[in-house]
Amino acid sequence: MAVHNTSADAANTAVRAFLTEVGEKYWGKIFNTGTGSGKAVWDKIKNQVFKGCCCYCGKHSEKVQMEHLVMFNREEYGLHHPGNIVPCCTDCNKRRKDNNGKHVSWEEHLKTVCKELDQQDRFEERRMRIYEHHTTGEFAYPSLNDNEKHAIRVMAESLYTNIKTEIEKSLELYVKLTDAFVIKGAVESK
Ligand SMILES: [Zn+2]
Repeated sequence: MAVHNTSADAANTAVRAFLTEVGEKYWGKIFNTGTGSGKAVWDKIKNQVFKGCCCYCGKHSEKVQMEHLVMFNREEYGLHHPGNIVPCCTDCNKRRKDNNGKHVSWEEHLKTVCKELDQQDRFEERRMRIYEHHTTGEFAYPSLNDNEKHAIRVMAESLYTNIKTEIEKSLELYVKLTDAFVIKGAVESK
């Protein structure tokens, strides 16, 4: 657990909450992968669609983590939705960055993982399994048009800025209030 909670952390959490709510709107129900029907969906994706293996390196692991294909952050604004989650081992759950410091797409990441493991011959098969999960079948990710993507980005950015600003405003107000108390207290004690 984070021991230093900054206003940016709070703002990022708010953005993820928003991306979760939008994902649930498209999915049509609550998608809490920790319990109930959401957990059953995640278990199915993990154990049936991907057979308990990491979607990138193919390694079987009891402790696979949840990875969002379209990243669940202010870089890609991926939604929390069944079609956007895949199992991933701890080694592969670190999305590489390109020369501009931007995270690469899941396809590029898969390409790199296969190359590093000298398993280029498995790339296409793994890419297809992920792609099919992401785009077809019961868990298909919503195909958002440019207007919808733009709207999600604008709302998320606005939310991020508002949360950060609110926390900064609270601090300013706190400083003003405590200054007022201290001065008032000093006057009264004379
Ligand atoms: Zn892996």
